Parts: sequence; structure tokens; C-alpha cells
Amino acid sequence: MKIIFATGNKNKLREIREILAGLDIEVVSMKEAGIDLDIVEDGQTFAENALIKARAVCKASGEVTMADDSGLVVDALGGEPGIYSARWMGEDTPYTVKNPAIIERLSGVPDEQRSARFVCSIACVYPDGTEDVTEATYEGRIGYEAKGENGFGYDPIFYVPEKGKYSAELSPEEKNAISHRGKALRAMREKLAERLKSQA
Ligand code: IMP
Repeated sequence: MKIIFATGNKNKLREIREILAGLDIEVVSMKEAGIDLDIVEDGQTFAENALIKARAVCKASGEVTMADDSGLVVDALGGEPGIYSARWMGEDTPYTVKNPAIIERLSGVPDEQRSARFVCSIACVYPDGTEDVTEATYEGRIGYEAKGENGFGYDPIFYVPEKGKYSAELSPEEKNAISHRGKALRAMREKLAERLKSQA
């Protein structure tokens, strides 16, 4: 089976290829599939946005399409930045500015109210209209400083109690094993494996 992964992000593409290795699936990027679409992500949830992207590319290509949407949900900020995580404070604003801004907005907030989670939704849309969605979370809390050199985005301020470390201090393997994206991708792998089995 061939699947288009609706992203321009090379790291995501590598990650999905690694996780789907062993299944009889070829994962291609939108670029490799010759699809160039400007998709308006105007859903109200991570799942809706993942579905919007996957549906649009599936419709344009006629191929099975997978897409993801993810972000950071901070409870003390009423769920912000949430589905606006990439755009929050401006798409081009560096995380060396965004991360201290989140810590600043939580000044005076005690540990037990600093809970936060990364959420990832993955959608897979088939040309016959069938749709699968998986979603997973990565639980932690907003720390008091930015720490660690690994990962990206909000990882340096995301403290992971079960590891006693900030997310940006975890190796890629350690993070994948417990992260929102790793868990949602592995759940989607299960669904794909079932579909391949029922087709065989
Ligand atoms: P998207 O799913 O590529 O649209 O990513 C949404 C945004 O959420 C990213 O630009 C980051 O700001 C944030 N984000 C999602 N996953 C992670 C993560 O694993 N670490 C840090 N930030 C993340």
C-alpha cells in the first residue's frame, strides 16, 4: 500500500517511516506525490485539523493519505496555545522567545497547577471515504526554566515527572517511547496492520 503523509516536515516523515517499517507500506511526502496544496486548517480540535489535511490531500491525489496535528495544552492558560501552538505569538517567533513567555505567564502558579500535555492526532483517509483517527497525549508540567538541547518547540520548558527531566533532555528514543506523536503513530500502525490484513 502507498500512503501519502501530508507534511512538509522531513523529521515527521522519517519518524513515520521508522514506525511503519515492517508493514508493506510505502510512505511518500506530498512533494514526492506531486501535490502542492494550501490547506486552511480551521478545525476546532487537533483531530479535526488532521482530518481536514488528510481529506484534502486524499481528494487531490486519490491516494490513501495520513496527516497529523499536534500542540501543547497548558491547563493554567485555559488550554492555550493548543491548536494554535505553531502560530502562537507568531509563526516566525523563535521558541527562545515563546518559551520564556509561557513561563512568565505562569509566574506564581504552584506546581500542582502547572499541568500540561502535548496532544497529537493522526488521521488516515482512504479514497473510498473510510477514515481512521488516533490521538494520544504526553503528560507533564510547565517548568520554571528552559532546559535541554534535544527535541524542538516547547520541549525545553516541558518537565516530564516520570523521567525527572525536561522533554528536551530526553534522547529521541526516550521521547518517542512516551510522546504524544510516538503513541498516536503506533496506534495508527495497529489500525493500518488490521486494514492490510483484511485486504489480504
Ligand atoms: P504541527 O503538528 O506540526 O502543526 O505542530 C504544532 C506545534 O506544536 C509545533 O510547531 C510545536 O510548537 C508544538 N509541538 C508539537 N509537538 C511538539 C513536541 O513534541 N515538542 C515540542 N513542541 C511540539
